[in-house]
Amino acid sequence: MGICEGRVAIVTGAGNGLGKAYALGLAAEGCKVVVNDLGVGTHGEAGETKGAAEQVVDEIRAMGGEAVANTDDVAEWESGKRMVEQALDSFGALHAVVNNAGFVRDRMFFTCSPEEWDAVIRVHLRGHFCTSRHAAEYWRAQSKAGNPVDARIINTTSGAGLQGSVGQSAYSTAKGGIATLTLVQAAELGRLGVTANALAPNARTRMTSTGAFDMDAKEGEFDVFAPENMAPLVAYLVSEQSKGVTGQVFELKGGHVFLSQGWTDSKGFDKGARLEASEMDAIVRKLIETREPAKPVYGAA
Ligand code: NAD
Repeated sequence: MGICEGRVAIVTGAGNGLGKAYALGLAAEGCKVVVNDLGVGTHGEAGETKGAAEQVVDEIRAMGGEAVANTDDVAEWESGKRMVEQALDSFGALHAVVNNAGFVRDRMFFTCSPEEWDAVIRVHLRGHFCTSRHAAEYWRAQSKAGNPVDARIINTTSGAGLQGSVGQSAYSTAKGGIATLTLVQAAELGRLGVTANALAPNARTRMTSTGAFDMDAKEGEFDVFAPENMAPLVAYLVSEQSKGVTGQVFELKGGHVFLSQGWTDSKGFDKGARLEASEMDAIVRKLIETREPAKPVYGAA
């Protein structure tokens, strides 16, 4: 018996790459899945992978699982409502939302157009908002009605959002926002029985197959960047086993899982009195010099 038996989850962007691996992994663990995918390209181009959601549903059914397809745009307000209704109509329950859909439009900050900026911020930040917001409303109503809620939000951040990434200002901004959103959701929704965690994955998908990183499988070695490596953590977070685990930002690469420290404060300097403008330069430079080394920005020279 799988660890997600009896659970129902929505997975957005589940027609390709990581979302597909999550949906298949969840189904293998007994979860019923609403497979959402708009079928767009890596840069959000319409119609690029039309039918992707339906194909994943077919794969799940072929392996004996239960799934339904949804082809809505995650960043449309009504889409989240439809996905929640679809989960309830098809499976009679909703236990988890895995927010994963998204695309990139990489550009240096000094050439990024307002349209590129808006499109990337919209799909990731508004996409995460719309889907979870409707689910949270449903879980709140359940909680108020006295029905026990044991629900999950799993968000997708990125190393780009946690450390920064050259050429990805909009993407990094959105992903950083998602990590912070996760902390707020964990704090606000805990009383309703809902946990919220985020995952920064590392996997070989069409999004990362740009040649910038060597993610190829090596003959005879563990395939570190197989998208399937990311699925067990997602299945665990969806399952009842992860009850009480909330407000965490996980990073996962191959079989290496770790917690992001986020924006932790350094020890700092306290004068015990108002600081003078004339002494700030020495203090600031000393703070930077003595701080624990942070991970570098991706792509920085
Ligand atoms: P991918 O391009 O293979 O898959 C993304 C899927 O999202 C596609 O199937 C696409 O059709 C769908 N999608 C895009 N816009 C949508 C919308 N508006 N509504 C519904 N579906 C939509 O990419 P991936 O690598 O699998 O990325 C999945 C998520 O993981 C993304 O949020 C990405 O930013 C994040 N991520 C990936 C990596 C990695 O190493 N691959 C690293 C960090 C973060």
